[in-house]
Amino acid sequence: MSWFTRKDKGILTPTESKREAPDGLWYQCPSCKKAMHTREHRLLAYTCSNCNYHEKIGSQEYFELLFDQTKYTELDAMLSSGDPLNFVDTKKYPDRIRATEKKTGLKDAVRTAHGKMNDADIVISAMDFSFIGGSMGSVVGEKIARGIDYALEHKIPFLMISKSGGARMMEAGFSLMQMAKTSAKLALLAEAGIPYISLLTDPTTGGVTASYAMLGDFNISEPGALIGFAGPRVIRETIGKDLPKGFQSAEFVLEHGFLDFIVDRKDLKDKLSSLLGMLA
Ligand SMILES: [Zn+2]
Repeated sequence: MSWFTRKDKGILTPTESKREAPDGLWYQCPSCKKAMHTREHRLLAYTCSNCNYHEKIGSQEYFELLFDQTKYTELDAMLSSGDPLNFVDTKKYPDRIRATEKKTGLKDAVRTAHGKMNDADIVISAMDFSFIGGSMGSVVGEKIARGIDYALEHKIPFLMISKSGGARMMEAGFSLMQMAKTSAKLALLAEAGIPYISLLTDPTTGGVTASYAMLGDFNISEPGALIGFAGPRVIRETIGKDLPKGFQSAEFVLEHGFLDFIVDRKDLKDKLSSLLGMLA
Protein backbone atom coordinates (compact mmCIF):
# COMPACT_ATOMS: atom_id res chain seq x y z
CA MET A 1 0.00 0.00 0.00
CA SER A 2 2.54 2.55 -1.16
CA TRP A 3 0.11 5.42 -1.12
CA PHE A 4 -0.08 5.13 2.63
CA THR A 5 3.56 5.96 3.15
CA ARG A 6 5.05 9.36 2.59
CA LYS A 7 8.03 9.10 0.22
CA ASP A 8 9.56 12.52 0.83
CA LYS A 9 10.30 13.48 4.37
CA GLY A 10 10.18 16.93 5.92
CA ILE A 11 7.91 18.66 3.40
CA LEU A 12 7.23 22.19 4.58
CA THR A 13 4.70 24.55 3.03
CA PRO A 14 5.30 28.23 3.71
CA THR A 15 2.27 29.97 5.21
CA GLU A 16 1.75 32.30 2.24
CA SER A 17 1.37 29.41 -0.22
CA LYS A 18 -1.10 27.56 1.96
CA ARG A 19 -4.67 27.70 0.79
CA GLU A 20 -7.08 29.87 2.72
CA ALA A 21 -8.34 27.19 5.03
CA PRO A 22 -12.04 26.69 5.57
CA ASP A 23 -11.25 27.16 9.22
CA GLY A 24 -14.72 26.34 10.47
CA LEU A 25 -15.22 29.97 11.45
CA TRP A 26 -18.83 30.20 10.54
CA TYR A 27 -21.42 32.41 12.12
CA GLN A 28 -25.01 31.29 12.24
CA CYS A 29 -27.60 34.01 12.60
CA PRO A 30 -29.75 33.23 15.65
CA SER A 31 -32.71 34.97 14.02
CA CYS A 32 -32.95 33.55 10.47
CA LYS A 33 -30.45 30.66 10.89
CA LYS A 34 -28.46 31.65 7.79
CA ALA A 35 -24.78 30.73 8.02
CA MET A 36 -22.11 33.19 6.91
CA HIS A 37 -18.36 33.42 7.20
CA THR A 38 -17.21 35.29 10.31
CA ARG A 39 -15.07 37.56 8.12
CA GLU A 40 -18.10 38.63 6.09
CA HIS A 41 -20.08 39.05 9.30
CA ARG A 42 -17.38 41.31 10.71
CA LEU A 43 -17.27 43.37 7.49
CA LEU A 44 -21.02 43.95 7.87
CA ALA A 45 -20.44 45.33 11.38
CA TYR A 46 -21.70 42.06 12.91
CA THR A 47 -25.09 42.23 11.24
CA CYS A 48 -26.78 39.42 9.27
CA SER A 49 -26.51 39.71 5.47
CA ASN A 50 -29.93 38.10 5.13
CA CYS A 51 -32.22 39.52 7.83
CA ASN A 52 -30.07 42.36 9.25
CA TYR A 53 -30.12 40.90 12.77
CA HIS A 54 -27.70 42.94 14.89
CA GLU A 55 -25.49 40.59 16.89
CA LYS A 56 -24.63 41.75 20.41
CA ILE A 57 -21.06 43.07 20.46
CA GLY A 58 -18.79 44.55 23.13
CA SER A 59 -16.68 47.65 23.68
CA GLN A 60 -13.76 46.27 21.66
CA GLU A 61 -15.90 45.79 18.55
CA TYR A 62 -17.52 49.23 18.90
CA PHE A 63 -14.11 50.88 19.30
CA GLU A 64 -12.92 49.06 16.16
CA LEU A 65 -16.01 50.14 14.23
CA LEU A 66 -15.97 53.79 15.30
CA PHE A 67 -12.42 54.99 15.93
CA ASP A 68 -10.39 55.81 12.81
CA GLN A 69 -7.81 53.06 12.15
CA THR A 70 -8.88 51.56 15.51
CA LYS A 71 -6.59 54.09 17.23
CA TYR A 72 -7.70 55.27 20.65
CA THR A 73 -6.46 55.96 24.17
CA GLU A 74 -8.32 54.14 26.89
CA LEU A 75 -9.12 56.19 30.00
CA ASP A 76 -9.07 54.76 33.56
CA ALA A 77 -8.42 51.30 32.15
CA MET A 78 -7.32 49.77 35.45
CA LEU A 79 -10.19 50.92 37.66
CA SER A 80 -11.70 47.84 39.33
CA SER A 81 -14.36 47.12 41.86
CA GLY A 82 -14.15 47.02 45.65
CA ASP A 83 -16.58 45.12 47.88
CA PRO A 84 -18.25 47.79 50.03
CA LEU A 85 -20.97 45.47 51.37
CA ASN A 86 -18.97 42.23 51.85
CA PHE A 87 -21.52 40.72 49.51
CA VAL A 88 -21.90 36.97 49.15
CA ASP A 89 -24.40 35.12 46.94
CA THR A 90 -23.33 31.80 45.41
CA LYS A 91 -19.82 33.27 45.46
CA LYS A 92 -18.09 36.07 47.32
CA TYR A 93 -18.34 39.24 45.22
CA PRO A 94 -14.53 39.73 44.93
CA ASP A 95 -14.23 36.11 43.73
CA ARG A 96 -16.94 36.72 41.15
CA ILE A 97 -15.14 39.87 39.96
CA ARG A 98 -11.82 38.03 39.63
CA ALA A 99 -13.41 35.07 37.81
CA THR A 100 -15.18 37.43 35.40
CA GLU A 101 -11.99 39.41 34.80
CA LYS A 102 -10.23 36.19 33.91
CA LYS A 103 -13.02 34.97 31.64
CA THR A 104 -13.57 38.24 29.75
CA GLY A 105 -10.20 40.02 29.93
CA LEU A 106 -12.14 43.09 31.10
CA LYS A 107 -11.84 45.03 34.38
CA ASP A 108 -15.52 45.97 34.60
CA ALA A 109 -18.67 46.42 32.51
CA VAL A 110 -17.67 49.65 30.74
CA ARG A 111 -14.62 50.97 28.88
CA THR A 112 -14.00 54.60 27.99
CA ALA A 113 -11.67 55.85 25.28
CA HIS A 114 -10.68 59.02 23.46
CA GLY A 115 -9.88 58.99 19.76
CA LYS A 116 -10.88 60.33 16.35
CA MET A 117 -14.05 59.44 14.48
CA ASN A 118 -13.93 60.61 10.84
CA ASP A 119 -11.13 63.01 11.90
CA ALA A 120 -13.09 64.59 14.75
CA ASP A 121 -12.33 64.07 18.44
CA ILE A 122 -14.78 61.96 20.43
CA VAL A 123 -14.95 60.29 23.85
CA ILE A 124 -16.80 56.97 23.82
CA SER A 125 -17.95 54.91 26.81
CA ALA A 126 -19.11 51.46 25.72
CA MET A 127 -20.59 48.82 27.99
CA ASP A 128 -19.79 45.10 27.98
CA PHE A 129 -22.68 42.73 28.67
CA SER A 130 -20.26 39.86 29.21
CA PHE A 131 -19.14 41.43 32.49
CA ILE A 132 -21.87 40.44 35.03
CA GLY A 133 -24.67 41.29 32.59
CA GLY A 134 -23.35 44.77 31.90
CA SER A 135 -24.47 45.70 35.38
CA MET A 136 -23.89 49.22 36.65
CA GLY A 137 -21.86 49.30 39.85
CA SER A 138 -19.53 51.93 41.30
CA VAL A 139 -16.82 51.36 38.71
CA VAL A 140 -19.21 51.74 35.78
CA GLY A 141 -20.60 54.96 37.25
CA GLU A 142 -17.16 56.32 38.10
CA LYS A 143 -15.68 55.54 34.67
CA ILE A 144 -18.60 57.20 32.90
CA ALA A 145 -18.36 60.21 35.24
CA ARG A 146 -14.63 60.52 34.58
CA GLY A 147 -15.22 60.13 30.84
CA ILE A 148 -17.67 63.03 31.00
CA ASP A 149 -15.14 65.07 33.03
CA TYR A 150 -12.57 64.40 30.33
CA ALA A 151 -15.01 65.43 27.58
CA LEU A 152 -15.79 68.62 29.53
CA GLU A 153 -12.17 69.50 30.13
CA HIS A 154 -11.18 68.98 26.49
CA LYS A 155 -14.50 70.16 24.98
CA ILE A 156 -15.06 66.92 23.08
CA PRO A 157 -18.48 65.34 22.31
CA PHE A 158 -19.41 62.33 24.43
CA LEU A 159 -20.98 59.12 23.13
CA MET A 160 -22.42 56.54 25.51
CA ILE A 161 -23.10 53.04 24.19
CA SER A 162 -25.35 51.28 26.70
CA LYS A 163 -25.95 47.54 27.03
CA SER A 164 -27.03 46.57 30.49
CA GLY A 165 -29.31 44.53 32.69
CA GLY A 166 -29.43 47.46 35.13
CA ALA A 167 -27.94 48.12 38.55
CA ARG A 168 -25.41 45.67 40.04
CA MET A 169 -27.14 43.88 42.89
CA MET A 170 -23.89 43.11 44.71
CA GLU A 171 -23.38 46.81 45.32
CA ALA A 172 -27.04 47.56 46.12
CA GLY A 173 -27.44 51.23 47.11
CA PHE A 174 -23.99 52.12 45.80
CA SER A 175 -25.18 51.09 42.32
CA LEU A 176 -28.24 53.27 42.57
CA MET A 177 -26.11 56.29 43.50
CA GLN A 178 -24.40 55.98 40.10
CA MET A 179 -27.66 57.05 38.46
CA ALA A 180 -27.56 60.39 40.26
CA LYS A 181 -23.81 60.82 39.80
CA THR A 182 -23.79 60.24 36.03
CA SER A 183 -26.93 62.35 35.55
CA ALA A 184 -25.36 65.27 37.45
CA LYS A 185 -22.19 65.03 35.34
CA LEU A 186 -24.26 65.00 32.15
CA ALA A 187 -26.02 68.16 33.32
CA LEU A 188 -22.62 69.87 33.50
CA LEU A 189 -21.90 68.71 29.96
CA ALA A 190 -25.24 70.15 28.79
CA GLU A 191 -24.51 73.46 30.58
CA ALA A 192 -21.20 73.69 28.76
CA GLY A 193 -22.99 73.06 25.44
CA ILE A 194 -21.01 69.93 24.64
CA PRO A 195 -23.00 67.32 22.68
CA TYR A 196 -23.97 64.06 24.35
CA ILE A 197 -25.34 61.22 22.22
CA SER A 198 -26.73 58.09 23.83
CA LEU A 199 -26.86 54.88 21.80
CA LEU A 200 -29.03 52.17 23.32
CA THR A 201 -28.15 48.66 22.21
CA ASP A 202 -29.67 45.25 22.89
CA PRO A 203 -30.53 45.11 25.81
CA THR A 204 -30.73 48.38 27.74
CA THR A 205 -32.83 48.06 30.88
CA GLY A 206 -33.21 48.98 34.54
CA GLY A 207 -31.29 51.78 36.20
CA VAL A 208 -29.28 52.43 33.05
CA THR A 209 -32.42 53.23 31.04
CA ALA A 210 -33.61 55.28 34.02
CA SER A 211 -30.49 57.45 34.04
CA TYR A 212 -27.74 58.22 31.54
CA ALA A 213 -29.09 56.15 28.61
CA MET A 214 -32.16 58.37 28.22
CA LEU A 215 -30.46 61.72 28.86
CA GLY A 216 -28.81 62.25 25.48
CA ASP A 217 -29.22 65.36 23.37
CA PHE A 218 -30.10 62.53 21.00
CA ASN A 219 -31.22 59.13 22.22
CA ILE A 220 -30.75 56.65 19.40
CA SER A 221 -30.85 52.88 19.13
CA GLU A 222 -29.91 49.91 17.01
CA PRO A 223 -32.77 48.05 15.26
CA GLY A 224 -34.52 45.38 17.29
CA ALA A 225 -32.87 46.31 20.60
CA LEU A 226 -34.74 45.51 23.79
CA ILE A 227 -35.25 48.75 25.70
CA GLY A 228 -37.15 48.96 28.95
CA PHE A 229 -37.06 49.46 32.67
CA ALA A 230 -38.63 46.42 34.35
CA GLY A 231 -39.09 43.06 32.61
CA PRO A 232 -42.39 42.31 30.79
CA ARG A 233 -43.50 39.75 33.38
CA VAL A 234 -43.19 42.23 36.26
CA ILE A 235 -45.12 44.88 34.33
CA ARG A 236 -47.85 42.43 33.29
CA GLU A 237 -48.33 41.36 36.90
CA THR A 238 -48.29 44.93 38.17
CA ILE A 239 -50.84 46.41 35.75
CA GLY A 240 -52.80 43.17 35.38
CA LYS A 241 -53.06 43.53 31.60
CA ASP A 242 -51.53 41.85 28.56
CA LEU A 243 -48.82 43.86 26.90
CA PRO A 244 -49.01 45.04 23.27
CA LYS A 245 -47.05 43.24 20.56
CA GLY A 246 -43.47 44.37 20.14
CA PHE A 247 -43.52 46.00 23.57
CA GLN A 248 -40.01 47.16 24.62
CA SER A 249 -38.50 46.82 21.14
CA ALA A 250 -36.55 49.82 19.84
CA GLU A 251 -39.19 50.29 17.12
CA PHE A 252 -42.01 50.40 19.69
CA VAL A 253 -40.05 52.79 21.92
CA LEU A 254 -39.35 55.05 18.91
CA GLU A 255 -43.03 55.10 17.95
CA HIS A 256 -43.90 56.21 21.49
CA GLY A 257 -41.49 59.12 21.36
CA PHE A 258 -38.66 57.94 23.62
CA LEU A 259 -36.06 57.68 20.84
CA ASP A 260 -34.98 60.14 18.17
CA PHE A 261 -34.08 57.57 15.53
CA ILE A 262 -32.92 54.02 14.93
CA VAL A 263 -29.63 53.56 13.16
CA ASP A 264 -28.32 50.53 11.27
CA ARG A 265 -24.92 49.65 12.73
CA LYS A 266 -23.36 49.67 9.24
CA ASP A 267 -24.22 53.39 9.00
CA LEU A 268 -23.49 54.21 12.63
CA LYS A 269 -20.13 55.92 12.22
CA ASP A 270 -21.21 58.20 9.37
CA LYS A 271 -24.59 59.01 10.94
CA LEU A 272 -22.90 59.96 14.21
CA SER A 273 -20.40 62.15 12.40
CA SER A 274 -23.03 64.03 10.44
CA LEU A 275 -25.16 64.45 13.57
CA LEU A 276 -22.20 65.82 15.56
CA GLY A 277 -21.36 68.05 12.61
CA MET A 278 -24.81 69.61 12.85
CA LEU A 279 -24.49 70.09 16.61
CA ALA A 280 -21.04 71.66 16.46
ZN1 LIG B 1 -30.31 36.59 9.91
